[in-house]
Amino acid sequence: MASFIDSRESKRPGTSRASTDLFDMAEQYPFSDVHFWRDPETQLQAIIAIHSTKLGPAIGGCRMINYPSAHAAVKDACCLAAGMSYKTAINRLPFGGGKAVILKPKNLTDRKALFASFGRFVESLGGRYITAMDSGTTIADMDVIASQTNHVMCTTTAGLASGDPSPHTAKGVYYGIKAAVKFKLQQESLAGLHVAIQGVGNVGYALAKLLHNDGAKLTIADPNQQATQRLVDELGADIVTGDDLYAVHCDVFAPCALGQVINAHTIAQLNTAIIAGSANNQLQHPNMADALAAKDILYAPDYVINSGGVLQIAYLNKPDVVQHKLAALYDTLLAIFIQAEQQNSSTVDVANSLAEKILTEPFSGADYEEKY
Ligand code: NAD
Repeated sequence: MASFIDSRESKRPGTSRASTDLFDMAEQYPFSDVHFWRDPETQLQAIIAIHSTKLGPAIGGCRMINYPSAHAAVKDACCLAAGMSYKTAINRLPFGGGKAVILKPKNLTDRKALFASFGRFVESLGGRYITAMDSGTTIADMDVIASQTNHVMCTTTAGLASGDPSPHTAKGVYYGIKAAVKFKLQQESLAGLHVAIQGVGNVGYALAKLLHNDGAKLTIADPNQQATQRLVDELGADIVTGDDLYAVHCDVFAPCALGQVINAHTIAQLNTAIIAGSANNQLQHPNMADALAAKDILYAPDYVINSGGVLQIAYLNKPDVVQHKLAALYDTLLAIFIQAEQQNSSTVDVANSLAEKILTEPFSGADYEEKY
């Protein structure tokens, strides 16, 4: 295992300049510390990035996807960890921000052995980082991790058995979309609105059902044909292929698959009034927020609108509080939209300023404990 340390904890998430050297990356990307774990016996190559532990232990999911290079994986972990710090801060939760990535092996022979090894990696950090489910990992994987460490959530039977956070994330995105529609289109109802969803996996599917129940028309794209067919059969959704989704004329474009999908190339194609979805790190660069504002597209900052999953984890034994907090995302986002308009700044700048204020002011967790 190797780790390197950078004591700065205040840079903003979402930057994306090419990097060739790990120490260059330490200059460019915001993090507190980054840890590497290599276990050839189980094919595990994993990275845990911790952005901040100021508000509490760093929390953040573990994703296992294909990366073009180890550098891309480190960069992803660092950017995602920063987003988690901002997400917990803006929701005033007693957690810091961290993220784990596993470089997906080409031919994985023993999934359980790999996640058990990852569990030992998490345990080695002594509770400084708490892991959870993310893209490419499952509740069953979390259960395996829990055989090695208590610092894991989203399990069924051990640790903090919060199960799949996706329905809660989807509910938060649903409230966020309603806030955006209220602000941008002056409408309370989603009936008759057209939503284009990119990615109908765990979150996208649950979101599609909520929107359909409110009478929205859906167009979807996902390379997984089973996933798209399910929504055609169940909700009568229209399918388009791949990148054709960007140009679909719609009211809301909901990225629920990948990061970095909002860039100069896609902004030129977008034909929507609102972008509001669950994907992390949607903007290729923070200045894409200004490009969206210039095109009069309202952007719901990703780490705010997708905080439903972490809210469920934070208020695990209080389902009524979770529901209240999810609904409150409507007010949080509406306030951000209004402030951005009043200050003539981007919604991302407003959200970042709010989160950074909380990250720099004294915080003992009392806000969280006293209220609930
Ligand atoms: P998932 O892996 O279940 O679903 C992602 C879907 O996107 C898959 O069906 C995949 O086939 C599809 N996809 C991949 N490439 C695509 C492309 N180019 N175009 C369209 N679709 C594509 O993941 P999820 O749990 O639903 O999460 C979705 C996003 O939301 C991720 O970015 C994740 O980090 C973020 N997020 C999820 C949660 C959660 O609670 N699950 C919480 C916060 C943020």
